Amino acid sequence: MSELVIKNLHVHVEGTEILKGVDLTVRKGEIHAIMGPNGTGKSTLAYALMGHPNYEVTEGEATFKGGRILELAPDERSHLGLYLAFQYPVAIPGVTVANFLRTAINAHRKAADPEDKGIPIPEFRKMLKERMNLLKMDHSFAGRYLNEGFSGGEKKRAEVLQMAVLKPEIAILDETDSGLDIDALRIVSEGVNALRGGDFGAMVITHYQRILNYIQPDFVHVMLHGRVVESGGPELALLLEEQGYDWLREKYGEAA
Ligand code: ADP
Ligand code: MG
Repeated sequence: MSELVIKNLHVHVEGTEILKGVDLTVRKGEIHAIMGPNGTGKSTLAYALMGHPNYEVTEGEATFKGGRILELAPDERSHLGLYLAFQYPVAIPGVTVANFLRTAINAHRKAADPEDKGIPIPEFRKMLKERMNLLKMDHSFAGRYLNEGFSGGEKKRAEVLQMAVLKPEIAILDETDSGLDIDALRIVSEGVNALRGGDFGAMVITHYQRILNYIQPDFVHVMLHGRVVESGGPELALLLEEQGYDWLREKYGEAA
């Protein structure tokens, strides 16, 4: 069974312990929302899982499909079927969205089979069209230079398209908590909803309690002070929408 299992994960950033023992299991086919106030370590969890060098794992373990992943390079984790949507994607002048996606697919194919000659162009075009239709995207998008002059929403669309094309088994989507991004959240949620099914699982990280307006998670987890303190179903997100995060701070103290 394809599952991401996180056990007692401790992570330091620049010498400070940010994650203080996170436990979480995400199976293929399940959508998990990770919520919590700003500064509680949600992004730290996403970066540590994908192997960002500034995030030092000091204790604990993460496995994917039974194999340890924390020793692997980020691209190796990706080839296994994990996907991390970057909060701030970079512009690549001169490279179209389509070319970028084809390169990404070919890297995955080559990792699975060193003899692979790359996806044939007609097959790629057909698949790209299908995926763009699924996401209700204008086909002209594929011909634009990646992230060059993209609006915030268009960057999100590029990210979601990348996910739809790479078809990860588990995607980790981290949303910024700064202004503007209810719109981004909507774009990402629609993408997740379109991909939803037995072959796709996701960890959707968000500050917004209103996530239920966009996506129906199977599980909701709340992080506080570097730990997952509450887990439940969609009713937990409703409770947060009604009551905010203050009751959690009272229940678990200012710095657990
Ligand atoms: P969240 O995503 O829940 O808002 P983060 O994981 O971004 O929280 O941050 C958790 C804590 O780690 C915050 O106190 C933040 O200031 C600190 N932190 C995050 N990244 C860095 C960094 N690169 N350098 C120093 N401190 C960091
Ligand atoms: Mg964050």
